[in-house]
Amino acid sequence: MNKASWNKDDLYQLYSTPFIDLIHQAHLVHRAHFNSTDMEICSLLSIKTGSCPEDCGYCPQSAHFKTGVKKEKLMELAEVIKQAKRAKDAGAKRFCMGAAWRNPPAQEFSKILEIVKAVKALALEVCMTLGMLTLEQAEQLKKVGLDYYNHNLDTSPNYYKRIITTRTYEDRLETINYVNIAGLNICCGGIIGMGESREDRVNFLLQLSKLPKPLKSIPINRLIAIKGTPLEKATIIDNFEFIKTIACVRIMFPESIIRLSAGRHEMSDEMQVWCFMAGANSVFYGDILLTAKNSTIDRDKRLFKKIGIEAFTMQEK
Ligand code: SF4
Repeated sequence: MNKASWNKDDLYQLYSTPFIDLIHQAHLVHRAHFNSTDMEICSLLSIKTGSCPEDCGYCPQSAHFKTGVKKEKLMELAEVIKQAKRAKDAGAKRFCMGAAWRNPPAQEFSKILEIVKAVKALALEVCMTLGMLTLEQAEQLKKVGLDYYNHNLDTSPNYYKRIITTRTYEDRLETINYVNIAGLNICCGGIIGMGESREDRVNFLLQLSKLPKPLKSIPINRLIAIKGTPLEKATIIDNFEFIKTIACVRIMFPESIIRLSAGRHEMSDEMQVWCFMAGANSVFYGDILLTAKNSTIDRDKRLFKKIGIEAFTMQEK
């Protein structure tokens, strides 16, 4: 199925396809656009941690929950550069930075622009996630060389209200619109396994397909149920449903990089490989993903060697 626009019936049909057939279909789409053994490696650094005024129910950095994450100031430029160089030496092509803000404060914004310029000068692709932006901020980020802006939709419009109450889905869409107008690449995905229904997953994927331009980068996270957050007792989503979701994303977005993001450390090697078969072709490496655990670099290297992914690069096909 290769379509310009998607509807609910299409998505339900994909989810209802026998598992092996769906993965086969997704893998064929994947191979038509990417080398099957390529994996893009990114690094994600928290440059401002904790005490976020938002109440995202999955996030240990929210000031609304007691998770033990300590508040930190915006990281000094020299430290960011040190970390970016380390990531580059370890094979990262893209360096992503996240700040726990509702939106970047005006008094910190010039520092953010300096950070983008300096990381870009290391010949790394630069991605940031800083919360909501104004159009002017998006344009300034573009001007200093930011490549990607990450702003996840997280889930369906309906389910969103049960996960976050301090901002709306429309707020999210507005920032994505500004990012698009400014000419930045959009990185946008979500979290699977927050207790949402399949209908929510279908509606979430449809929302992704309606964004202003085809997504270059789609992070798909599996919820890490963190102690102290409202989702700490969430039931772990069925592995097959998660893999099917990756396959649906691959079929819907044949040319996008699909990032298997949070939750990998809790997956078996075999589970991760199913996700790669279904179309995921990027991971974050590093023991910590913002403030949460991640698969270790050693484990990733061992796994990639076992399955024949040795190059930490992504070649255009
Ligand atoms: S996900 Fe981002 S916006 Fe939401 S609470 Fe965490 S740091 Fe804040």
